[in-house]
Formats: sequence, structure tokens, C-alpha cells
Amino acid sequence: MTVFGNQAVRDIETVLHPYTNLATHRDTGPLMLERGQGVFVYDTTGKDYIEGMAGLWCLSLGHGNEELIEAATSQMRRLSFAHLFNGKSHDPAVELAETLKGLVPVPTSKVFFCNSGSEANDTQVKLVRYMNNALGRPEKKKIVARDKAYHGVTVASASLTGLAANHADFDLPIPGILRTACPHYYRGAQEGESEDDFATRLAAELESLIEAEGPETVAAFIAEPVMGAGGVVVPPASYFPKIQAVCDKYDLYVISDEVICGFGRTGRMFGCETLGFRPDSISVAKALSSAYIPIAAVTIPEAMYEAMLVESRKIGTFGHGLTYSGHPVASAVALKTLEIYARERIVEKVAAKASQFQAHLRRLADHPLVGNARGLGLVGGIEMVADKATKQGFDPKKGVGARCVAFAEQEGLIVRALANDTVSLCPPLIISPEEIDELFARLDRALARTQEWLR
Ligand code: PLP
Repeated sequence: MTVFGNQAVRDIETVLHPYTNLATHRDTGPLMLERGQGVFVYDTTGKDYIEGMAGLWCLSLGHGNEELIEAATSQMRRLSFAHLFNGKSHDPAVELAETLKGLVPVPTSKVFFCNSGSEANDTQVKLVRYMNNALGRPEKKKIVARDKAYHGVTVASASLTGLAANHADFDLPIPGILRTACPHYYRGAQEGESEDDFATRLAAELESLIEAEGPETVAAFIAEPVMGAGGVVVPPASYFPKIQAVCDKYDLYVISDEVICGFGRTGRMFGCETLGFRPDSISVAKALSSAYIPIAAVTIPEAMYEAMLVESRKIGTFGHGLTYSGHPVASAVALKTLEIYARERIVEKVAAKASQFQAHLRRLADHPLVGNARGLGLVGGIEMVADKATKQGFDPKKGVGARCVAFAEQEGLIVRALANDTVSLCPPLIISPEEIDELFARLDRALARTQEWLR
């Protein structure tokens, strides 16, 4: 029986943990973290861990960035809180909206602020509805999302999410969400199908779905450029251009969920630039503030804004907003984060470090346990299988991915197990070449121990 320290007991007695197996947590207890510096985080015993997942795909500038701390504290002293309701405003929100408008690769009229990626995507759903009501086409409301997508956990964003655990027993998805295939070539391709043929088939499937539903009822398509929580799925190079052509043909509003990919993760500022598609709007969160404080944003194109103005003239107040939309402290931290990305040339540096990171991943593809290793920029995943030749996975009950993650933790590396025993990697963007080598050395040891455990 595990004997827990006082802090662990207090945790078990009081905290309901998100995304945690509530039953096993009572037996395993928490990992209590205390402090962090750069890409390292330390537990209460002083043991160090590499932040192999940048927290939750978010801590882009690592721990302890004094400039971000200073931006938060000085803004708190100046104006601790102000909201944007009823036309009130403040400089940090205006400046952040201006900066984002100049940075995003989509023509943008306005920026709407939220606190989380889920809220951003929830807002996207509501804006699509609002716009189409304003445009006098109330039947055009359905939104296409993909299998294995992750867009959040609120009622609407969880409905966009295509993972069973986010629907089961929550009575989700809500009506009006259509599902199309995940572009996971390793798992989804048919015998002998090339990547390009696979992409062609998926685009044709999307087109058939829209035709079957009635194109006049389908309003939007949402996608992560590289899928994160669904298994770090990098689509074939021709996938998005083919999907974009279908969306254009049927006048679908295209939303890029840049909550993970945004701000350099894939080697360009935004994932849609790397993957070659032109969304109408993007959702950003996480690295917008390097995760130091919650803030997210949705970009709004001029045509949508014009439609919203019409609707507002008809019904008055635009009835959507959050107490902390554009919180001045969060806005100030986000502004400083964007300033650091530009000044330190963070995105160019990611592109430069990507080849080393991806070479390590390709090396792991030869490991006996790894069926598929994939990634882009500074994000990657290794999918463990029981049989490399047949791609046969392990019995999920065995929990091989979770076991590997537990060994990694013992080796001083925090990573995450996703579906199909995929272990994901997404370190802070500031990770150094030496730290990348160290991260993979720790992962190598975890894999060796997993192999040993399976014998
Ligand atoms: N969209 C993507 C692509 C994400 O990865 C996440 C979270 O991991 C979300 C949306 C939801 O963001 P949040 O957890 O901030 O609500």
C-alpha cells in the first residue's frame, strides 16, 4: 500500500482533478510540483523533470520569465481589473487586438477575447450561428469537425471534440455537429493507398457528407492544423489544400483551431501557414500568454462583423461576453509574450531546432515498441504497438502508454499518454539543443523500461 505524505493526503481529500482517472488517483496520489525554471520543473522532494509537454502544450517560454512576471505585476498595480462590456475599454486590450490583427495570417476586422481554448471555440460556434441568422440563412448552421479532434470541453466545444471520453455520459454531442474522418495516415489509410490518395479520399468523403446533409445546411468546418490531444496527427501535405477546395466550393466558414499550433509550434507562426490552408478565422489560447495567465482570442473577419452589425441593429446588444474578456493583466502578459516572440525570434529558432527534434523522433521509429513516430516543428508523438508489421496495438487494458509515461516521470520527464498508446511531446519553445538531447535520453530510458516491463 502506498503511504502518502501530508500534502498528497490533502489533495486526495479535497481536489477533483480534471482529466484524471478518479478511481486510480485515490491509490496513486498526486505528483506535487513546487517550482520551475526554464524547461525544468521540480517536485516537493526537489527532483527535477523536463517539461516534455510544456505543461499542457502551452508553456512556450518556460518557467520563471521575469519579463512576463513584471508585465503582470506592473499592470496589476496600474489597473487591476477592467471589463469590455457596454463599450468600456482599456489600452492593454486595444493594443493586444491591434497586435494580433497584424500577426494572424487571416484578414481580420475585430478580435474577441476569452479565457480558454474551449471558450474560444464555443464562441466560434455561437458566432457562426449569429452570422447566419443575420445573413437570413437560418438553416445554414451545421459545423463539420473531425474524428479525434480536440476543441475543448464546454458543451459546444466538447461537441466539436471527436473523442469518446468527452461525450460519454455527458449526453454530447449537441445536435448540428457533423463528423468527418481524421487524417491519420498510419491508422486510416487503406492497403496500398498513397498519402495523396488518402487525402483525396478524405476530401471526397467530406464532399459526400456535405451533399448528403444538404449544402445549404452546412455552415462551417473546424480543424487543428496538427491534431494534438487526438494523437499528434500530422496530415498528409496535400490534405488541407484538398479540404480547403471543398470548403470553398460549399461556402463553408473555415476555422483553424490554433490553440496548440499557434505562435510557432510547427515552425511557422501559425499552423495553418505550415499546413497550407486559409481559414476565415482562428482560435488562439495557450501560448498567447505562454500560459502564465488564462487568455484566448477569436479573430473575426470583416464580412462576419458586418453581419453582426446588422443583427445588432435589429436586436440590440450582442449578447455574448465573459467577465474576464480582455482582462487587462492577461492582455498585458500576452502583449509581452508576443513582444518576446518577435524580439527573440522564437519562431525562427523553433524552425532551426525542429530538425534535431524530428531526427530524434525518426530514430525512435526504429524502436521495437514504436509503430509510428510523427511530428512537425517542436511537437511529436510516438505510437506504441504490439506488432510493428501488422500495426496491431496493445490491449488498452494493459495501459502501455500510461506505463511508459510513469517510467518517464521516474526518469525525470513529463510526457502524456494519448489514445492508442501514443506518447506525446511538446516541450517549451525555448528548449535548448542540449535539453532536447536530454529529453530524448530520458525518453529512451523510459522506453527501455517499458520494454523490460512487457517481457
Ligand atoms: N483546442 C485545442 C487544439 C486544444 O488542444 C485545447 C486544449 O488542449 C483546447 C482547444 C481547449 O483549450 P482549454 O483547455 O484552454 O479550454
